[in-house]
Amino acid sequence: MNDLLPEQSPNWQYLEQKIQALLQSYGYREIRFPLLESTELFKRSIGEVTDIVEKEMYTWPDRNGDNVTLRPEGTAGCVRASEQNGLLRNQVQRLWYSGPMFRYERPQKGRLRQFHQFGAEVFGLEGPDIDAEMLVMTARLWVDLGLSEHITLQINSLGSAVDRGKYREALVEFLSAHKAELDEDSQRRLDSNPLRILDSKSSQTQLLLDQAPSLPDFLDADSREHFDRLRALLDSAGVAYEVNPRLVRGLDYYGKTVFEWVTDSLGAQGTVCAGGRYDGLVEQLGGKPTPAVGFGMGEERLVLLLDAVGAVPDSVGRYLDAYLVAAGNVSEAALTCSEQIRSQCEGLRLQNHCGGGSFKSQMKKADRSGAKVALIIGEDEAAAEQITIKYLREDRQQQTLALPEVVKLLMQLD
Ligand code: ATP
Ligand code: MG
Repeated sequence: MNDLLPEQSPNWQYLEQKIQALLQSYGYREIRFPLLESTELFKRSIGEVTDIVEKEMYTWPDRNGDNVTLRPEGTAGCVRASEQNGLLRNQVQRLWYSGPMFRYERPQKGRLRQFHQFGAEVFGLEGPDIDAEMLVMTARLWVDLGLSEHITLQINSLGSAVDRGKYREALVEFLSAHKAELDEDSQRRLDSNPLRILDSKSSQTQLLLDQAPSLPDFLDADSREHFDRLRALLDSAGVAYEVNPRLVRGLDYYGKTVFEWVTDSLGAQGTVCAGGRYDGLVEQLGGKPTPAVGFGMGEERLVLLLDAVGAVPDSVGRYLDAYLVAAGNVSEAALTCSEQIRSQCEGLRLQNHCGGGSFKSQMKKADRSGAKVALIIGEDEAAAEQITIKYLREDRQQQTLALPEVVKLLMQLD
């Protein structure tokens, strides 16, 4: 679980502002729900025999003896909250959330025990048009962040629960006959969660899978048409994708459309955004049948990627526009002037020097702060009710002016 230090937070804020603005521009509204839910909720939604529920959850009995779990993902809590608060009754909802998720995994680059996700969930729409809109929306984000050359889209259809059941049987029958050729993990999964074998990292297992029955052959007409229409919509919108028939995702609630946005710039942890359709989940958790689709986006990986490809604008790291230097016995003038400036310059980031010290040492601090200008109030300025504005990043004459003039110049800083 990482600490996030002040020098890193601007990149996070930059990313979060971009994502929020994007979601809001498509009509998504924010929902907030607890970090802690009953363990049962995750078992029933994510699935008992998934990696998350079997070995990654932080779970303990509370003082009452009820088992509680730190949320390992957002969809289950979002469905619970939406259902419980009546948001799903014959309504379409486009919702987003963000915040920490918790999984007991082996920490490594791009994989943490407390990590952060942005999630989006849409309830009440069953057609592929909303699947396509979500993918077009995420594609727009990559363009906006300058990442589009580094991220590609993989899609697949998992079909209906019946399709998957038939496919599972066929796959297990085939793989059981070749059990000895499977890697250890896949041998274990043969009984518990055979579809996960499809995304095994073992090259020998992948070779064997070339001969195995293929999921797309098991789709019924409805799922097939949904997938075909999704592809046609993506084609017409100009969103490139690769169909990966072995993309299955590690959570049980998905059906029909699934997708992952992946990068090869981050090593093994290459999936930056993943999601799909989960039409059965709301009903499974006790609500009325409600079609749904959503995704989760890993912030850590996106911040790493932004950094790796140098996509964050230089201005993002700067946290001050102006630094007020108070040289001499001028504390009162410094405080009142700076407050007047703040009232008149909306959005200006101005820090007052506090704690005294020589003019020289204060100027050094002003420079190191990254501010564009130093506002200097010495005893002469205080007596004349003026301020000296000194440009720290451009070759420009310093000026000593009355407050209204200084305000005008500050408003013009870019
Ligand atoms: P992975 O295959 O990398 O383990 P996942 O399939 O478990 O990912 P999801 O549950 O779909 O991931 O979560 C969506 C996104 O959240 C992932 O694509 C990834 O960007 C991010 N994510 C998941 N687990 C972690 C983690 N432990 N640390 C950091 N980010 C994570
Ligand atoms: Mg995982």
